[in-house]
Parts: sequence; structure tokens; C-alpha cells
Amino acid sequence: ETIAEMLDRLSEIVPDYPSAGISFKDLTPVFADGQGLRRIVDEVIEPFRGQFDVIAGLEARGFVLAAAGAYATGTGMITVRKAGKLPREVFRDEYTLEYGTGTLEIHRDDVAPGTRVLILDDVLATGGTVGSAVRLLELAGAEVIGVGVVLELDGLGGREKLDGHTVHSLQLV
Ligand code: IMP
Repeated sequence: ETIAEMLDRLSEIVPDYPSAGISFKDLTPVFADGQGLRRIVDEVIEPFRGQFDVIAGLEARGFVLAAAGAYATGTGMITVRKAGKLPREVFRDEYTLEYGTGTLEIHRDDVAPGTRVLILDDVLATGGTVGSAVRLLELAGAEVIGVGVVLELDGLGGREKLDGHTVHSLQLV
């Protein structure tokens, strides 16, 4: 079974979620499958092996991938969080969503300057979220060595928005 076949078999497409006209790709059944989880984590980090010091996961589904990937590679993990969740001094970045804005934060001392960071998330759509995480980590002085996602939604310009960064996706849908 190819990775695309596995993702087709296990992921669910939810029409009109979270709003009319949007077709939501739900990866939670992949996370819930023992072989599925191991395979997406291994394959999403594979091209970047040996090139990063730490993995940044984007709240919340990116945490699943980043924590597993960090454990598997003996690296640490940075939690890139939505606004207001981190208790100490943060770097903050506001970005545009389809409707409104979102804000991401990291603790100022979570990442030392020069640290090589791999960013992981479940889905790359417009690239707004990952783009924000890239800015935050670079603001902290980190070097973003790549971006790994399970699904890349075609035609939304995510990859173009991350121009200059290596983007590895397991399936283009
Ligand atoms: P973007 O910022 O437009 O690239 O959207 C990506 C963010 O929204 C990621 O954090 C995803 O978790 C979430 N997202 C967008 N579309 C989907 C989807 O179809 N399934 C699951 N998550 C999605």
C-alpha cells in the first residue's frame, strides 16, 4: 500500500465543515491507527533527517506529529501556540485567515538563535499558518530548514507563500 492509498483509506472527507462549501480533510483516523501514525511521522520527517535540532509543532494537530517525530529522532519539540496560552514572554505573529486573523506565539527562550528547526503540521492550505510560524521562529533567530505536512491542498497557494523553504507533503489533494 502506498502512502497515498493509506491516507485515502483512513482519512475522512467532511463536506461543508467548518462552513458551507469547504471540504474538510479529517486525519484523526490516521492518528488513531498504529501503523498509520508511525508511517506518516516517519515519512514526513524522512527528507530532513540529520538536518534539524528541534521540531516545531503547530497547535493542535501539528503537536501530534511533532511530538512523535521529536521522540523518534531524539530531538526536542517547540509548541507553537494560539494566542494567550503561553505563560511567559512570547514572540507573537498575527496572520490573515480566510475570515479574520489568527495569532501564533512561542516563548521567547524556547529556541536559541541558530537552532535548526523543522516545522510540522497536518494540512497546508493557504500557507497562512505555516507562514506565520516561519516568521515567528525566524524572529527568534532560528533557521527553518524545512516544512513537513501530511496533506497539501492544491490550488490554494500554500507552497508559493512559503517560497524559499523546502516543503515536503505526503499527498497533494
Ligand atoms: P492555512 O493557514 O490556510 O494553510 O490552513 C492550515 C491550517 O488550517 C492548519 O493548521 C490545518 O490544521 C488547518 N486546516 C485547513 N484546512 C484543513 C483541512 O481540510 N483539514 C484539516 N485541517 C485543515
